[in-house]
Amino acid sequence: MRPPPLRNDCFALPAGVDWTPVDDAMAQLRDGLHAVTGVIRLPVDEAAGRVLAEPVAALRSNPPMPNSAVDGYGFAHAATGSGPQQLPLVEGRAAAGVPFEGGVPLGQAIRILTGAILPEGVDTVVLEEDVTTDGANVAFHGPLRAGSNTRKAGEDVVAGAQVFDAGHRLGAPDLALLSALGVAEVSVREPLRVGVLSTGDELVAAGQPAGPGQIFDANRPMLLAMLRRWGVVAVDMGHVGDDRAALAERLDDARDRCDALLTSGGASAGDEDHVSALLAETGSLRNWRIALKPGRPLALALWQGMPVFGLPGNPVAAFVCTLLFARPAFAVLEGAEWSAPQGFTVPAAFKKNKKPGRREYLRARLDAEGRAEVFVSEGSGRISGLSWATGLVELEDGARDVRPGDPVRFLPYASFGL
Ligand code: AMP
Ligand code: MG
Repeated sequence: MRPPPLRNDCFALPAGVDWTPVDDAMAQLRDGLHAVTGVIRLPVDEAAGRVLAEPVAALRSNPPMPNSAVDGYGFAHAATGSGPQQLPLVEGRAAAGVPFEGGVPLGQAIRILTGAILPEGVDTVVLEEDVTTDGANVAFHGPLRAGSNTRKAGEDVVAGAQVFDAGHRLGAPDLALLSALGVAEVSVREPLRVGVLSTGDELVAAGQPAGPGQIFDANRPMLLAMLRRWGVVAVDMGHVGDDRAALAERLDDARDRCDALLTSGGASAGDEDHVSALLAETGSLRNWRIALKPGRPLALALWQGMPVFGLPGNPVAAFVCTLLFARPAFAVLEGAEWSAPQGFTVPAAFKKNKKPGRREYLRARLDAEGRAEVFVSEGSGRISGLSWATGLVELEDGARDVRPGDPVRFLPYASFGL
């Protein structure tokens, strides 16, 4: 079963809007999109990285039974007090997976190991390091807190409790939790298939002969790698020159193979900007002039129902726009929440006088003192800066006069899932 198609006006901005603030553009994108991928059942151990299609409840409590948290000796707290304690040991022991079948009489103790179900008559455990024993008796100092070194049934999760909402993306710890709760299979969204297409007459793939007027296609390997990191099925749609018919054909091809498409280059309103020209013919094109550096413009449209993100050609701008807009949009298309990166406030190791009216992202990394230093150039063709950086410094929309030591927001690449 497939969810309904996206609405043709899903990228529309309110009338009269010119330079769109980043937050408005994000809200617009978030609200215009919804899940487009189908739902499948998967064994939990194959579900890492997938998005849950329905809420999940615990089939069993964790822990299912009260048990010992340590290796030691178990007894009833009621028979102990303060000062030196001595209890005779019952024959046998309680171990994880091998419960003690009898009960432990009041005033006696039993050898018990970590994870063992508390036998009848035992509610408290003393650590083996805190006792002396001759094999027949155990002696220790009281008082002990009732219930010491034990785990209650369901103290972590109670059977029937909902542990995840629909839309949650499963990580490795989640597989531990689901497994512990007896959930072996889950309903998840099929992964999103996203195509990557480079455009421009000047491009050749790295490794191919390049004439003096040509440059190597840097965006495609970068974007494909980003998608793979995000658990998206990355579809290499290759490269087309500045040729409208060839581009239209490639878009059709992508429509058959992908749920969404990233193009780079040709997204502005110039003579050779065939991506935006062609997308305009669909009637769904919104050329977003986002108040953002680096980045504008971002062309968004539906090509026969397939969302197309027309990224700027500059690799730095393509990278930033993909992180800010495409990544969270893909999450929504896959049935997850819009995901904002987790940033950190750190002291600046740079100075910059920033104009109001647009948000800026600077290529940055942390120095040995944990201060954010920025790349020497803000030129959006300076690919080496992307590589030099380990994250971005985000400077808010208003004016900002940053001095060394001032707090700035640092977004590590890792916070974008890279
Ligand atoms: P455009 O958006 O097509 O005007 O391109 C802006 C700049 O980005 C131009 O200098 C292009 O040559 C460059 N560019 C476009 N696509 C790529 C690409 N895939 N790899 C590297 N540079 C590119
Ligand atoms: Mg171009």
